[in-house]
Amino acid sequence: MNEIGLKAYGKINLALDVVRKREDGYHEVRMIMQTVKMYDYIKIKKSKEKGIRVYTNLSFLPTDENNLVYKAAKLLMDEFNIEQGIEIKLDKFIPVAAGMGGGSSDAATVMIGINKMFELGLKKNELMDRGVKIGADVPYCILRGTCLAEGIGEKLTTLKPMPNCYVVVIKPSISVSTKFVYENLRANELTYHPDIDGMIADIGAGDLHAVAGKLGNVLETVTQEEYPVIGEIKRSLINDGAINALMSGSGPTVFGLFEDKDVAENALQNVKSSGLGKQFFVTEMYNIDRR
Ligand code: ATP
Repeated sequence: MNEIGLKAYGKINLALDVVRKREDGYHEVRMIMQTVKMYDYIKIKKSKEKGIRVYTNLSFLPTDENNLVYKAAKLLMDEFNIEQGIEIKLDKFIPVAAGMGGGSSDAATVMIGINKMFELGLKKNELMDRGVKIGADVPYCILRGTCLAEGIGEKLTTLKPMPNCYVVVIKPSISVSTKFVYENLRANELTYHPDIDGMIADIGAGDLHAVAGKLGNVLETVTQEEYPVIGEIKRSLINDGAINALMSGSGPTVFGLFEDKDVAENALQNVKSSGLGKQFFVTEMYNIDRR
């Protein structure tokens, strides 16, 4: 195999809770993760020159060892003494630094691709064990679908698939670093925690409205306070028929859940004309049948 093309899917957080701040500075979380059908496209190709070369459609992204696709490829190639040179072409569509896990998913997908291309024979859980060295969300991006993530995000339990619906995704023009949000979170003073166990039960029962009623993200206390545009986008989506809306991850991306595609498209158009957002998508759940 000389070339392989793969999709790296983004995620939303249907719920995100911070349980406590650990002594080592990491935050212990409980999150319901959901893959959506938005993806970056990655092509890995064997090359005559040695080493790893990264090309991307976004000029502001690093192409050296600071790009997560580079790190992911290097990790496996070093461990398995792969001398063959490779080129990685990364076409980004998932908004960057947005709370949709794009970088983690790119890294996860490159690991899947290198495993196939060089016939390393690693099983999913063996890839996940290695992926966590790159980032806490990388194991989830290998597993995909609907999952409960605990620990620092790496302890995963698969859940029944989330009931399908349309998802409007809006990225405002601001960029927010995950580090800033966690540093400013008052983890021990939170007065509200999303009902994650209740949401797991609702997902199990296939009750979309009950799940939507429990959307919650404690990181909104930092990001939405700093950037009121997040609240404005949520209100606009709900006014236009979303069952509910929430900020994903550390933000600033906001998503709304809709039962009807036309209603979703109309809500998206209204946010677009109001000037509140910069990037706009209508997507759906990406679910995996694990039976
Ligand atoms: P998360 O939901 O996991 O918090 P995020 O949306 O906040 O993810 P990403 O888009 O994954 O953040 O990336 C954040 C930073 O990582 C960017 O500022 C970028 O410079 C760097 N980065 C390195 N590699 C990549 C990549 N392949 N794609 C996107 N960003 C990357």
